[in-house]
Amino acid sequence: MAQRLAEDHWTVVDHRDAADLYVINSCTVTAEADRQTRQATRRVLRKNPSAQVIVTGCYAQNEPMECATIPGVSLVLGNDHKLAVAKAARELPRDSRPNQVPVRVDRLSSLPAALLNGYESRTRAFVQIQQGCDQSCTFCVIHRARGQSRSFNRKSVLRQIHTFVDQGYREIVLCGVDLGSYSDLSDDKRPEINSLTHLMQEIAILPGDFRVRLSSIDPVHIDDLLLSILAESDRFCPYLHISLQSGSTLILKRMKRRYDAVFLMERLEAARERIESLVLGADVMAGFPTETESDFNCTLEVLKKANIVYPHVFAYSARPGTPAARIPRQVPRDERRRRASELRQVGQHLRAEALASMISNTGYLLIERAPGLSGSVIYHGRLENYMPVRLTSPIPPVGALLEVMVTGVDGDVLIAEPLSPD
Ligand code: SF4
Repeated sequence: MAQRLAEDHWTVVDHRDAADLYVINSCTVTAEADRQTRQATRRVLRKNPSAQVIVTGCYAQNEPMECATIPGVSLVLGNDHKLAVAKAARELPRDSRPNQVPVRVDRLSSLPAALLNGYESRTRAFVQIQQGCDQSCTFCVIHRARGQSRSFNRKSVLRQIHTFVDQGYREIVLCGVDLGSYSDLSDDKRPEINSLTHLMQEIAILPGDFRVRLSSIDPVHIDDLLLSILAESDRFCPYLHISLQSGSTLILKRMKRRYDAVFLMERLEAARERIESLVLGADVMAGFPTETESDFNCTLEVLKKANIVYPHVFAYSARPGTPAARIPRQVPRDERRRRASELRQVGQHLRAEALASMISNTGYLLIERAPGLSGSVIYHGRLENYMPVRLTSPIPPVGALLEVMVTGVDGDVLIAEPLSPD
């Protein structure tokens, strides 16, 4: 969207600065995310009360009328229209009355056609390979906000990666709502050559000095072929972020997830066995309706057994219109929060151990933060296993990839020294 606006002669400024037009790309994964969109609108209008505000993204897609009633909003744009933001900005009415805010939201079916030119950050580029989701997990509103699963053409994904690598990006993140369901049927209908693993095999042999990580993956898609590719190709980072949610089979069933606890643990153990020095992160939910203390303990156990170092913990948030919101036995809010906090504490403990075990190890650090800010930055970049690192010596320029030796730990950050120049 920023790229499109810049092409249309807008000057894109930092989101903290005053501007004439604000585009708020909303999330709706939790009720808290919805609240943040309303709060962001108020905040930007405080900086410039006469500015225009376009709300787009998943909250706009799912609850357009609610977004249209946020005071100060000039236009609500669904996900299918967000890349036409420049045109929409040109056509904005000067004054939208509160109950006449234009809303442009359609059924989702398209994929953006054009490639991105680049990103503001010069180190890590995100390449979307898939959009939407055909599952209907009972707590989720994302599949409604993003539409059915559809995949980008394999050749254009490879071309996009090539463009970014040419521009000097050293890390590519493959993204999608349900990444493992990637299936590009546009050129050849044979499933074995349209899958995520096939795409990864092609990426593995692309020329250039860059590494690739997967954004997040469902346990059902962690098959042996995927693990072999991750294990055998240096191109892929030894880090997986699992869409895990719960360690209780009963709760997974009520969530309508595609796996049970036994399958989950078997896949995570297989991943550990195959990929040396694998680091795991996961999305984990606490307090899904009907979750008992013993269900919750199953999730705690999975975190510990699988050594999930970076758990991204959500306290369950009932989303209007979802089957889970109608389940009578909702877990009280304070209890959901307590469980979420306990999961985070376990994660913190596992992380401390994992970071300490890195001392004296080497790895490749991609510099993300400007050297000039080194006095104030918490970390300068991340290793291939996603762990953040602060360097003790002069900091190479942003985008440099260098081998480092870990010498210590400070809180959640590794301390390291360079072994060789970029
Ligand atoms: S897999 Fe489930 S949780 Fe993930 S986007 Fe699809 S429906 Fe939502």
